[in-house]
Amino acid sequence: MSDNANDVTELGVAAIRDGVAKGDFSAREVAEAFNANVAAAGELNAFIVATPDMALEAAGRVDADRAAGKALGKMAGVPIGMKDLFATNGVQTTAASHILEGFSPQYESTVSQKLWDAGAGMLGKLNLDQFAMGSSNETSYFGNVISPWRRNDGGNAPLAPGGSSGGSSSAVAARLCPAATGTDTGGSIRQPAAFTGITGIKPTYGRCSRWGIVAFASSLDQAGPMARDVRDCAIMLEAMAGFDPKDATSLDMPVPEWEAGLTADMKGKKVGIPREYRMDGMDADVAKSWEDGIAWLRDAGAEIVDISLPHTKYALPAYYIIAPAEASSNLARYDGVRYGLRDLPEGAGLQDMYAATRAAGFGAEVKRRILIGTYVLSAGFYDAYYTQAQKVRTLISHDFKNAFTECDVILAPTTPSASFALGEKSGDPLEMYLNDVFSVPASLAGLPAMSVPAGLNREGLPLGLQIIGNAFDEQGVLNAGLALEQRAGFTAKPEKWW
Ligand code: GLN
Repeated sequence: MSDNANDVTELGVAAIRDGVAKGDFSAREVAEAFNANVAAAGELNAFIVATPDMALEAAGRVDADRAAGKALGKMAGVPIGMKDLFATNGVQTTAASHILEGFSPQYESTVSQKLWDAGAGMLGKLNLDQFAMGSSNETSYFGNVISPWRRNDGGNAPLAPGGSSGGSSSAVAARLCPAATGTDTGGSIRQPAAFTGITGIKPTYGRCSRWGIVAFASSLDQAGPMARDVRDCAIMLEAMAGFDPKDATSLDMPVPEWEAGLTADMKGKKVGIPREYRMDGMDADVAKSWEDGIAWLRDAGAEIVDISLPHTKYALPAYYIIAPAEASSNLARYDGVRYGLRDLPEGAGLQDMYAATRAAGFGAEVKRRILIGTYVLSAGFYDAYYTQAQKVRTLISHDFKNAFTECDVILAPTTPSASFALGEKSGDPLEMYLNDVFSVPASLAGLPAMSVPAGLNREGLPLGLQIIGNAFDEQGVLNAGLALEQRAGFTAKPEKWW
């Protein structure tokens, strides 16, 4: 990365797409520049596998199409990073787990295929928390991802890029790619975006097909874009979304033209401020950035209203029952028979092979989730935990339903704090889970939610503001995000040290 104003790696999705279409530069030049940044950033450990040739091939197709006068796709000439949770045909797909090491799918996930069809190219597969379980990218079998950001205290403590899409957030913030895919089950797009000063949106559950995405908790998993600004997210989400008969929960609705619909004018819109998100002992910088956000949306013409989401405090405990329950079921398929790792001790039978493979293949956090999930689904405890959590989930959805009779979108912090040092929270799972306190309610309700950079805290680290919208109202979320973005004027970027 250089500070050269002509450096294409400083450009986002829209600027690259438009520049390629106009002929200011070729798609190949763009791919080469990002390939070089990826190759030079090994210290961040953002990629599990780099695929420079695939980026060049896709760029070559776009340049040839342009030369032939053919229409170009929405993402034409834009090289991206692909979270290693998306199955990519012929390219190792691991979910950052040893149990899938060496697994090369024979098929392409629907979302990644749509991106390639729109003219994007793949720079590589991005690191993540193992099976997308985590908030700091410290559970990957392939090592921690390091945030490009550092505190302004002169110390060089390596910081968490957030999780589980930590490779995606680190890579976009460090200009290794203009955009990346993420997935969000309980906050994994929004929290890492907030930690690294970038933008990410989790659409309404069902907008993006889950087909070919390694399943964590199927009733919550949703893909979405992570990029440097709201417009770039709108463009990429248009390319990713759409009905897919191969996913039974896919929304059979047309994909709106979100980019064309962007406006930062909030006149006539009501923004709800949920009083239950104002927690005791809230970080002062987070509280201040929330106040800034309120002032910015008011300035954009919105009316600010107090709202109540009374069951908020039950969201985190309900999530940490439902998500592990679904995970314990989804991860039963990794048995050493069909995918990746097989550990077959001398003279062992089938059961021994299952046990040995799973013991060797899954990391500690994944095992914890499987054990919790198996426990809450077991005959004696099912009603007390799983059924109860499902009831709470319904109440949380009702809270939002009621709130959206009084407001159009909801504004809240994305996370209770800025990024923390690696190792600072990894010893205490509960402390790690608390990171998700503001992000899981929207996940449980299946609602679109986005994080937009709001400023820096006293340590010089980014903070994010979260917009939660009603089901199917990604446009309302993006527009409020744009209003925040224009007023926040966030231009900070990490100083290059890698
Ligand atoms: N941090 C949350 C968890 O560990 C959310 C992860 C996600 O959204 N994939 O479950």
